[in-house]
Amino acid sequence: LVSRENHRERSVVRVGGVPIGPGTMTLIAGPCAVETPEQTLAAARMAQAAGATLLRGGAFKPRTSPYAFQGLGEAGLRILADVRAETGMPVVTEVVDAADVDLVASYADMLQIGTRNAQNFALLQAAGEAGKPVMLKRGMNGTIEEWLMAAEYVAQRGNLDIVLCERGIRTFEKATRNTLDISAVPVAQRLGHLPVIVDPSHSGGSRDLVLPLTRAAIAIGADGVIIDVHPHPETALCDGPQALVDGDLRELARVVRDLPPVV
Ligand code: PEP
Repeated sequence: LVSRENHRERSVVRVGGVPIGPGTMTLIAGPCAVETPEQTLAAARMAQAAGATLLRGGAFKPRTSPYAFQGLGEAGLRILADVRAETGMPVVTEVVDAADVDLVASYADMLQIGTRNAQNFALLQAAGEAGKPVMLKRGMNGTIEEWLMAAEYVAQRGNLDIVLCERGIRTFEKATRNTLDISAVPVAQRLGHLPVIVDPSHSGGSRDLVLPLTRAAIAIGADGVIIDVHPHPETALCDGPQALVDGDLRELARVVRDLPPVV
């Protein structure tokens, strides 16, 4: 279903009316985690001023440590819905458990499946039945074929509104949090018809890498990027070191605006 064999044209997925697909270079931005209404609104305004058309933000956070901030749950979803009403930005947010899919889908414009759940088949199937577009991150240990097969689980349930997101894979290299496999973008676009975006924030894991990795994503023909922003990264409850603040974000906005997308 997701293979290019049966769909010669690459697909455009619409999220609350915002297109992601060939030639779009859609900018998705927002906080890694929803913390407070004020923080989320401030991050959304920063993102919007930089040209982002979709808001990201996690209410359910899949953390390595069980002692780390796990997200606000439904209270976080309500904050996202309020910020959407305030800014008009459709919301992308993660669901980590099949039992929560209907709840998250009742607030979100696009469901995010994270790298740690990239082969959680029950979750993929539930997301495929939720009636909302799905952004599917590549498993940090997953091959491109496994990623596309994960998308197939969603598609099999009748939902072809799937956006693939390359977010870095685990390699022997320790200088970056993950190794951005930039070649996965054209390979996934050649094998499948789905839009492919890049997450430069979670792949590099550091603010200074976000801009160069975004340039690489644009140059190779990604259909969009998803970026962490935070009004006060030093106090962020999740992934502060990779969050962009105003100056960096303005530079990123300029890069996204000025570099012509590869079609
Ligand atoms: C995220 O985008 O909030 C996230 C946790 O990403 P990943 O699943 O790629 O680690």
